[in-house]
Amino acid sequence: MNIRILLSVISLLGSHSFAQNLNNVQFPEMQKATGRKEIRIPGIMGYQTLKCDFHMHTVFSDGMVWPAFRVEEAWAEGLDAISITDHIENQPSKKYVSGDHNTSYELAIDLAKQKNILLIHAGEVTRKMPPGHLNALFLTDTNPLDVPLVQDALQAAKKQGAFIIWNHPGWKAQQPDTCRWWPLHEELFEKGLINGVEVFNEIEYYPIVLDWCISRKLSVICNSDVHGIVSETFDLENGHRPMTLVFAKSRSIESIREAMFANRTVACFDNKLAGKEEFLAALFLASVTVKSIAAYENNNQELFEIKNNSTIPFDIETQQGGKFTILAEASIIMPLVRGELNGITVLNLYTGSQSKLKVDLF
Ligand SMILES: [Zn+2]
Ligand SMILES: [Zn+2]
Repeated sequence: MNIRILLSVISLLGSHSFAQNLNNVQFPEMQKATGRKEIRIPGIMGYQTLKCDFHMHTVFSDGMVWPAFRVEEAWAEGLDAISITDHIENQPSKKYVSGDHNTSYELAIDLAKQKNILLIHAGEVTRKMPPGHLNALFLTDTNPLDVPLVQDALQAAKKQGAFIIWNHPGWKAQQPDTCRWWPLHEELFEKGLINGVEVFNEIEYYPIVLDWCISRKLSVICNSDVHGIVSETFDLENGHRPMTLVFAKSRSIESIREAMFANRTVACFDNKLAGKEEFLAALFLASVTVKSIAAYENNNQELFEIKNNSTIPFDIETQQGGKFTILAEASIIMPLVRGELNGITVLNLYTGSQSKLKVDLF
């Protein structure tokens, strides 16, 4: 018997030694191997691209999970930053869980530090339309936001340097037939009490909000608003939860805050990106490289190798009407006429409610 077989027989006897151990036999192989998924989206313009979700709930409002579990999920999925935004005015489990509006943050922060997840202290101001629901991020104390008047709540947030997001503006429970910017939103916006708007929430996209964000210089925001377990809510096998991509000077909460006030954000959902043209063009060109590798048999075509180093696939339409997909984290070879990669449209990159990114690739 060679030594390797002998060793494996010994280890087999060791791990399943029924004959010797009748008290406790362990089966560690049944445990799920844990690891952090990597989401590859390149940095642009000298900034790091951070993957963030600024909207989720726990048992401290109407969510189903304990706060630290949100950190576990974010770590496993490859996110950089999250904020837990429990409703200030809606706490159906209050009878069973004590604490105040800071408790969900306090119960998650230690694990966040251990897992290197940036946890942003936050809360969701929850009102009828107008103005609907608003998340306040970068708080130090959520309790002062628990006041009768919505203006006072948002001023209390602003006093702490908060970044304020209008959540799910097109949510049918609040605006069944429209997605309207009310006079109250104009008033809040003019007072600096709305700094960003969700163009995407959970599984809903509000194209018109992308136009609002660009014309009013508001940050484009994309969040999960998850109440249950992320892996049971979104298809993580084939994609990711909705995320806001933030272009930050460094991987820190202060840098995220600075970037959000400077509107350096893009929405990322269902393998689509929505945001300002300059950011989408930079992300696309930082992800994709092209080279001509050989002449093609007939006419003036060449074989082009197109590589995509990002997690997002890109759906391309050429000016001539040809369509193809540059797969995620892969390369493809395409026979094309030189110049055909000029003025292409990237069909899954949205620069406005009715416009898509046009760019020269070669
Ligand atoms: Zn809400
Ligand atoms: Zn919410």
